[in-house]
Amino acid sequence: MNALEVQGLEVAYGAVRALKGVNLSVGQGEVITLLGANGAGKSTTLRAISGLVRPRAGSITYRGEALTRLSPAQIVRRGIAHCPEGRRVFAGLSVQDNLLLGASGRRDPEIGLDIQRMFTLFPILAERRNQAAGTLSGGEQQMLALARALMSRPTLLLLDEPSLGLAPLVVRSIFATLKELKAAGSTILLVEQNVKLALELADRAYVLRTGQVVLEGKAEELRDDARVARAYLGGA
Ligand code: ATP
Repeated sequence: MNALEVQGLEVAYGAVRALKGVNLSVGQGEVITLLGANGAGKSTTLRAISGLVRPRAGSITYRGEALTRLSPAQIVRRGIAHCPEGRRVFAGLSVQDNLLLGASGRRDPEIGLDIQRMFTLFPILAERRNQAAGTLSGGEQQMLALARALMSRPTLLLLDEPSLGLAPLVVRSIFATLKELKAAGSTILLVEQNVKLALELADRAYVLRTGQVVLEGKAEELRDDARVARAYLGGA
């Protein structure tokens, strides 16, 4: 059974129809990437799943339960963590406190253990643990945003452009971490502009264009598909 099932999803911002009937699914343990040009509706799809925008039509179910009437907080409690575009960390709080905030919905005794795990996964964050998050570099903030999302122990991770604006070396390191998460069995829905890296990591991909899925398939089959490149250039 698919973990996440999205059917006929429509979202509008006023008169702007951002999504016009999107269908996609994410299986347990799958890494799926959502590709497409600017404005295609990738971020909106993630926002609808995590309850930040209300769909006008369509259904979103996670593990058989409808999400469309739940609040963002309830959706987080169902195990879905959303790491939005733009590295939103709490600039005035320390690295460690940012991580603790990621675990704020948890009441188990393993939060400290998970912080140590994040420090192992991202050693630079361990070095900077007492530093205000706002003083970190862009790449470090992106790592912190990802680590904070992981602190909720998500069963589904929604990632919006984790490589945006980062130096190639930092991008490599973030993708290496995503590869580790995948190997550990994580379920991930990744929005990414770096098509090559995204298709190297993912099992399957969907290409969105003006609010609709125009292409889908196994990542390895889409790697050499000229239609993927055309979707970015806005062609047919
Ligand atoms: P990008 O890579 O540029 O973020 P995207 O594929 O994630 O692109 P979305 O951000 O989902 O695309 O936007 C889809 C459409 O909805 C675009 O036409 C965009 O201009 C519009 N849109 C997005 N957010 C809003 C908003 N808050 N108000 C009005 N229109 C919006």
